[in-house]
Amino acid sequence: MAVRVCPHCKAEISAPEAAARSNDIECPKCGTRLEVAPGSRTISTLAGLVAGAIVWRLSAGSTSDLGGVLPTLYAFLAFGIVSPLALMFTANLRNAPAVPVAEPAHAPSPAGHGAGGHGGGHH
Ligand SMILES: [Zn+2]
Repeated sequence: MAVRVCPHCKAEISAPEAAARSNDIECPKCGTRLEVAPGSRTISTLAGLVAGAIVWRLSAGSTSDLGGVLPTLYAFLAFGIVSPLALMFTANLRNAPAVPVAEPAHAPSPAGHGAGGHGGGHH
């Protein structure tokens, strides 16, 4: 299995973590924002598609009453299983692009939304 390490402090990041949160990973050691390199995601998507196609072909050969539906279902399942697995095995980490920290005066936050909208003026 490929080892994912933080490019900054060389701390290892677990494969499931990298696969599940490929867009927003934080190094557990130094807190650097990381992301899975785009190439890995392309590979995993391709792997999923190939797996889906293979499964579809295999299950399409069997003739049954549900023959028209099951191959598609199996193909979807295969894609859903193989694609994240492939991502886990192939993912490389890189530094995520800098987060836009300087935001305009009122940054929309989930917490402030409810409080500012309704609860504020009623007193
Ligand atoms: Zn780190």
